[in-house]
Amino acid sequence: MVRQAHCGGTGLRLVILGPPGSGKGTRAKIIGKLFDIPVITTGDLLRSVVDKGTKLGKLADNYMKKGDLVRDDIVISIVEDRLIKPDVKNGFVLDGFPRSVEQAEALDRILNKLGIKVDAVVNVTAKPETIIERLSLRRICSQCNSIYHLNDIPPKKAGKCDECGGELIQRNDDHKEIIQNRLEVYLKQTFPILERYEKRGLGRNISGELEIDKIPTEVERVLKDL
Ligand code: AMP
Repeated sequence: MVRQAHCGGTGLRLVILGPPGSGKGTRAKIIGKLFDIPVITTGDLLRSVVDKGTKLGKLADNYMKKGDLVRDDIVISIVEDRLIKPDVKNGFVLDGFPRSVEQAEALDRILNKLGIKVDAVVNVTAKPETIIERLSLRRICSQCNSIYHLNDIPPKKAGKCDECGGELIQRNDDHKEIIQNRLEVYLKQTFPILERYEKRGLGRNISGELEIDKIPTEVERVLKDL
């Protein structure tokens, strides 16, 4: 068994990476629950900035609606503000950050300042056809960001979130042309940073194809040496 949860956390510090639709968000949430550590999802943090309608939100939205990465300095400062919060002291899962070389370098600097290190970088892999199907059928809760899939993880009541009753919506970047751009952006800007973590011996591959109930066992297997 990987580190046991105690005092509200395991001290486990993970980064989870993978192409859009690989299932990284679902796995990040399962890992967070398993080890009792907060999940920091940059996509959700950015969407809540966009929802506020501020100047910064409008700026971020211009990138997000096209499926491009939001400017590094904006994302880095959001993540830095989050990583100094007290609840992160006993571990965290960073979901969707870093996504560029500049962000990976910034993460090293931020963690260095805090005197901590990443324990592992979990890379979620999935076939292109799985990714396209998943993103087209994905729905998210407009209130709590819970993730559903119309066939594989349907809500108990159509259109409503099981967790909070919020309305389920399709993200506006989960449409075909935008999905294509997000995949290209991933390959060009994010995929190269995996090599950096591989070289440090931190990389761990996890399948994004498994059914939900098999994920906890797979997570345990992949992280057992930590
Ligand atoms: P996700 O929910 O992870 O698919 O992210 C949705 C969108 O948010 C991405 O297509 C980007 O526009 C933006 N985003 C999320 N994380 C980052 C990041 N680390 N750097 C830049 N943009 C990001």
